[in-house]
Amino acid sequence: MRQALVAGNWKMHGGLKANAVLMQELVDGVAALDRVDVSVCPPFVYVPQVSQCSGDKIALGAQNLATEVSGAFTGEVSGEMLKELGCAYVIVGHSERRTLYGEDDDCVAVKFARALDAGLKPILCVGESLEQRESGVTEAVISQQLDAVLERSDISAFAQAVIAYEPVWAIGTGRTASPEQAQAVHAHIRQRLAKHDAKIAAQIQILYGGSVKPDNAAELFQQADIDGGLIGGASLKAADFLAICRAAQ
Ligand code: PEP
Repeated sequence: MRQALVAGNWKMHGGLKANAVLMQELVDGVAALDRVDVSVCPPFVYVPQVSQCSGDKIALGAQNLATEVSGAFTGEVSGEMLKELGCAYVIVGHSERRTLYGEDDDCVAVKFARALDAGLKPILCVGESLEQRESGVTEAVISQQLDAVLERSDISAFAQAVIAYEPVWAIGTGRTASPEQAQAVHAHIRQRLAKHDAKIAAQIQILYGGSVKPDNAAELFQQADIDGGLIGGASLKAADFLAICRAAQ
């Protein structure tokens, strides 16, 4: 039986005051939850602040990491730095990184490996665009995104990783994949990994992300291969995020 995970991706939102209020509400709220792992991923600059006030039930994550370990890479932040500041997770290959910042499958595969080297759990995001879905290549796209990581890191790395299926057309759009659509892709991901290692495939947490809200979370999380969610917009409101965490229990 896999434990569910709900991770909040704050994206480029937040501020010292707002974070303090949100975190206090989350810490109070998660005290009543015991069958779900909860994580928040603030912008880099707020990682120390959130680390100070996240309590022992909310794991800290980051939204990105460098492909390099250290050196002359202005503006970059390494996995080791994130680990030192208390991060447990790091999001890798979010579609906004892939489309807005040109991160291709190779770059994502390097970041995935760097995260593991630093002792962080990568949350590897995969997902198809609307055009890809409509032309019937969703599974092929997901397979290619997974295979790029498998080629570099090997299946054993997935024992320490999380996958998030995030259809690009559902992120921040208010348009959610139906539970059946999401389940079909989650099952495909698990089957693809099972070809390499059935045990790791059965154990890995596969999250759904894309306009998850309190009113659609339960139905999504009831699907056999959906083990929680990666939550963007709704992670910024404590009441919504906590309702989603409750739905994952
Ligand atoms: C995300 O950014 O990973 C995401 C799923 O965003 P939203 O929940 O806002 O669609």
